[in-house]
Amino acid sequence: MTVRHSCSGCENLWTGAARAHCSSCHETFDSVGLFDMHRSRGKCKKPQSLRMTWDGVWRSGLLEK
Ligand SMILES: [Zn+2]
Ligand SMILES: [Zn+2]
Repeated sequence: MTVRHSCSGCENLWTGAARAHCSSCHETFDSVGLFDMHRSRGKCKKPQSLRMTWDGVWRSGLLEK
């Protein structure tokens, strides 16, 4: 069963309960762990600066390969 999520603050739609969408910067992450990683001291870091790669959602570039 596919679970659909949407954000009240932007047009993003995504699937998967484990996905994490940031209500501040409106990026969508592959996991809550990546979401936590991009939050630093109450602010959002750019996923690119954390070596994440974009594939519809932000994924960890370190875990691929
Ligand atoms: Zn964010
Ligand atoms: Zn959003």
